[in-house]
Amino acid sequence: MDRTHAIQQAAEDIRNARHTVALTGAGISAESGIPPFRGKGGVWERIDPMEFATIDAFLKNPAKVWQVLFLEMKQVLDRAHPNAAHEGLARLEQSGHLRTVITQNVDGLHQAAGNTDVIEFHGNFAWQRCQTCGQTQPSRELELAAMPPRCPCGGLWRPACVLFGELIPTTPLQRSQAITAACDVMLVIGTSAVVEPAASLPALARAAGAKIIEINPEPTPLTRRTSHYLIQGKAGEIVSRIADQCAG
Ligand code: NAD
Repeated sequence: MDRTHAIQQAAEDIRNARHTVALTGAGISAESGIPPFRGKGGVWERIDPMEFATIDAFLKNPAKVWQVLFLEMKQVLDRAHPNAAHEGLARLEQSGHLRTVITQNVDGLHQAAGNTDVIEFHGNFAWQRCQTCGQTQPSRELELAAMPPRCPCGGLWRPACVLFGELIPTTPLQRSQAITAACDVMLVIGTSAVVEPAASLPALARAAGAKIIEINPEPTPLTRRTSHYLIQGKAGEIVSRIADQCAG
C-alpha cells in the first residue's frame, strides 16, 4: 500500500470505528524540536539517557543529574510548541473521531494542542515532586540557584516523571490498559516500542480485536508482528492528512 492509500485507509478505519485511541511516543514531538531518545540528532547523542535518566543515578548523584539531564530537558521543553501532529490529534477529538491519547511523553504538548483526555503514562515535566515529602509544585516556580534544588522539607525536587527503574503509577497504567482493551482502532505514533510496559499496549489492543495503525519514519518491533500496517513518514504530515480526511 503506498502512503496516500494508507492514509485513506487509516481515515476510513477511524471513521468506521466506535472507539479510537492514540498511543504516542517521543517521535510525535520531534517536529516540535524535542529530540527523541532514539534516532538521529540532539541532546541524546551527548547524554546517554540510560545512564542519567535512572532513579539510581539520581539518588547517587542528584546534582549531576540535575545539571546534565534535567536542566537541558527543561530548556528544550520550555521552548517547545505543539506541531501539526499534536494539532491533528486535537482535530480528530473535536470531530468526534478520537477519545483518548495515551502518551509516553512528558512535554504536555497534547494538552497544549487541545486534547482533553490525555493519559500521561510517564508523568509530566511541567511539575516537580519532592522525593521525600511528595509535595508538588510547577516547574516554572522552581528555584534553581542551588544545585540540586531542594524542597522546604530538605528533600530533593525531581521532575514528576517516571525515571527508568521506577514503576508506572497504578492509575494511568490501569486506565491505559482498560481503554486499550476496549478500543477498536489504535494509532501508534512516534514510538520505538521498546520501553515497557507502554510497548505492550498495541499487542493488548490487537488481542482484543483492534486495528493497529503505526505512523513512524522507521519500522519498529511492532511492524508486521503487531501493526496491521505502517504509514512510513513524519507524524506532522501524516496525522494532519488523516485529520483532514476524517473531517471532510
Ligand atoms: P524513542 O525515542 O525510543 O523513539 C522515537 C521514535 O520516534 C522512533 O521510532 C523514531 O523513528 C520515531 N520518530 C522520529 N521522528 C519522528 C517523526 N517526525 N514522526 C514520527 N515518528 C518519529 O521514543 P519512545 O518510544 O517514546 O520511548 C522513549 C521514552 O523517552 C518515552 O518513555 C518518553 O517518556 C521519553 N521521552 C519523552 C520525550 C518527550 O516528552 N517529548 C522526549 C524524549 C524521550
